[in-house]
Amino acid sequence: MITINEHYLKLQKSYLFSDIAKRIAVYQKNNPDTHLIKLGIGDVTRGLPGACIDAFHKAVDEMAEDATFRGYGPEQGYEFLREAIAVNDFKNRGAEISADEIFVSDGAKCDTGNIQEIFSQDIKIAIPDPVYPAYLDTNVMAGRTGNFIDGRYEGIVYLDSVKENNFVPSLPKEKVDLIYLCFPNNPTGSTITKAELKTWVDYARDNNALIFFDAAYEAFIRDDSLPKSIYEIEGAKEVAIEFRSFSKIAGFTGTRCAYTVVPKECTAYDTSGNKHSVHSLWNRRHCTKFNGVSYPVQRAAEAVYSESGKIQTRALADYYLKNADLVCTTIAELGYDFVGGENSPYIWIDGRTDSWEFFDMLLNKTGIVCTPGAGFGKCGNGYIRISAFNSYENVKMAMARLIETLSS
Ligand code: PLP
Repeated sequence: MITINEHYLKLQKSYLFSDIAKRIAVYQKNNPDTHLIKLGIGDVTRGLPGACIDAFHKAVDEMAEDATFRGYGPEQGYEFLREAIAVNDFKNRGAEISADEIFVSDGAKCDTGNIQEIFSQDIKIAIPDPVYPAYLDTNVMAGRTGNFIDGRYEGIVYLDSVKENNFVPSLPKEKVDLIYLCFPNNPTGSTITKAELKTWVDYARDNNALIFFDAAYEAFIRDDSLPKSIYEIEGAKEVAIEFRSFSKIAGFTGTRCAYTVVPKECTAYDTSGNKHSVHSLWNRRHCTKFNGVSYPVQRAAEAVYSESGKIQTRALADYYLKNADLVCTTIAELGYDFVGGENSPYIWIDGRTDSWEFFDMLLNKTGIVCTPGAGFGKCGNGYIRISAFNSYENVKMAMARLIETLSS
């Protein structure tokens, strides 16, 4: 008899986006003439930068000719892309990461979800609340949690990100082995300072623990004092793996390209306490289960680091940051507390009521769709997330509606 991995049965059904869709459908049926403005989604809305498109086209043409055709590439990614990443994203910011510590992939979602499998079943895991759901669900699938009771999985150490700690979790009181951090944060939009991040690196070093640092939104950081990479913190190379993505920096959500940095110094232990290279384990896993990102996509990603690519991708992030700024100004004017929106495309607003009630009020009174914070964890209740991924015109219209409706 074929039996299932019963840990999957512990997973909570994700009703968040289907519930949102249902409520939108009812609203649209009752208000067919209202232009609905969706400020809920984490997907980007603007086209790929010209430099990426040009490189993409050129590489597609190369694939048409026998002389320049490429079949299977290196599983870890082509040297031209890994080298460009190492220089531009790390060495130029003072972080000594080499090309062979970079693993190119088709998404940070897959990487953040897959990497847990190289670690043992009984490690203690710390996960922020609210959280990007992939971190938690993949550990549930792997059997590292108990059941879901009263809004939380047994066995997980939750790191509350709340107003009192400025949405940057404090170190756990109990000892943990693996820590997930994401900055700039999804969903809260909060950022972490170098000093705060150093406390986590020090904790990991003192406890032989490891940090998974998700920097998918680093392109939105404009405050130069904030770390874009965990490797800007001394000692991080031994205890941190970093995830990056071209999704938000260059609009690759549909094109798919990302990368994971696993430094050679990064170590984990067997049950006898012997050290093992995490880099070797991940390399083995990557080569066994992954066959590389397509050549044209890697060429398009490489173009992000060309002179024109740098200008265009910065302009892309600036466009969304201008939207975020308008949202922040409006929300402040309306007297709501919020975080994010400054070095992040997300604005996390204290709705002063249940998340879904606030969602319904916004939808029904203004025709604006946001994301209820409760969908990201227990600490998200009472909050809503607004995303800056939309056209400036739509955001302007949405904010005018908010002022008109909520200030009266
Ligand atoms: N990490 C975080 C925090 C995200 O918010 C997202 C996407 O929204 C991802 C990773 C996924 O990135 P990718 O498109 O590279 O899979």
